Amino acid sequence: MNKAMLCTLNKDNAETNILIIKNKIDPADYNLNVDYQLEDTDPDVQHLINAQVGQEIKVDFLEGENSWKLSSKKMFISHFDYAYDLSSLKDFTDSLVTFKANDREIDTEIIQMLKNDIFPAAAFWENENIDQDLTAELILKYWDLESVDTYPENDFYKILLKFADDKINIINQKIADYWFEIPLQIRKKINNLIAADEIKFENYLVYLQTRDNIILNTILLNFLKEAEGESQESINNLFEKFHYQLIDELTKYSLEKDKKNNLNPIIPHGDSKRKELELQPKLNMMDYSLLEIFDNYSIEIDFEALNLFSENELKSLSDYLKSLTSHVEYLNQMREKLKCDSCGQMMEYELDYSQEIAAYKVGNAHCNNLECDNFDQKIKFN
Ligand SMILES: [Zn+2]
Repeated sequence: MNKAMLCTLNKDNAETNILIIKNKIDPADYNLNVDYQLEDTDPDVQHLINAQVGQEIKVDFLEGENSWKLSSKKMFISHFDYAYDLSSLKDFTDSLVTFKANDREIDTEIIQMLKNDIFPAAAFWENENIDQDLTAELILKYWDLESVDTYPENDFYKILLKFADDKINIINQKIADYWFEIPLQIRKKINNLIAADEIKFENYLVYLQTRDNIILNTILLNFLKEAEGESQESINNLFEKFHYQLIDELTKYSLEKDKKNNLNPIIPHGDSKRKELELQPKLNMMDYSLLEIFDNYSIEIDFEALNLFSENELKSLSDYLKSLTSHVEYLNQMREKLKCDSCGQMMEYELDYSQEIAAYKVGNAHCNNLECDNFDQKIKFN
């Protein structure tokens, strides 16, 4: 791989461009304006490689003593049609942003070379032009490199760099609070490490908070937090609220968003490994169903006192879970049935509330595609 640095020096009104390169090229082939071309092993120019922009420099083959001033530094890696601008931190950041805007991949080599200069600098990460995409690319490219010498002051970027350096193996509350600010690509990478059991959670609430599902990261999480230490009556009231929020979201998710609900293992359904809905206190946290979650937080629901279901057939959390399981299955099947037989489009539907299961079922539906043969034909479901 060829590599080069183009240094521009000024004196009075004169300007000179020195290309310091590994293997010499014909600058005309690359449209480069070069006055001198020297190999990077040449002692005459080696001090230029480390010089700072603004510095006065003596170059033996140029006239004058120390009167040349370095005005810009550009780094070429493997191609000569684009360069990293190393003149200042701001110029470098701008060149990264331009790379990204032109869909060009950032070379790992430049990250390797500059990581200790740029990554510990809060000013670098806090530059308003460094967006989520660029952050993700920089961190993911850095992932397999040697650790930086120091971390930035900014906690968020410190966490990202530490994840990349394999220095975080427990996700705590602080990390959970930052979780959804972490770029998606990086979260995916971390979730893979979690699945491989290389990263664990401080506790179950932290686990819930980092799941990309509103039922887990909001509805269930809030219920567990609110119910803690409350009286039985209050727990029952909170449980009713939890139930309605859950049912609403399940219905919305599967019917409006046309996505299959997958809430395993919390609500075991479909191809869940779990067949017996009995408490299994020794399960691994990540395999908890509502039974173990409620048990873990000492939450007991008084089903006798609950007015949620008209025919009070549900006597226990296990019964409740069974009814949820079949409801999730019902919704997942209903989603398929709501695709119009004739044109395949999702039909408009009306919901009926069923007191028996305290949940919504689809009452009827019709296709609203004007060009469909079945347009406006009402289909009843029971
Ligand atoms: Zn149709």
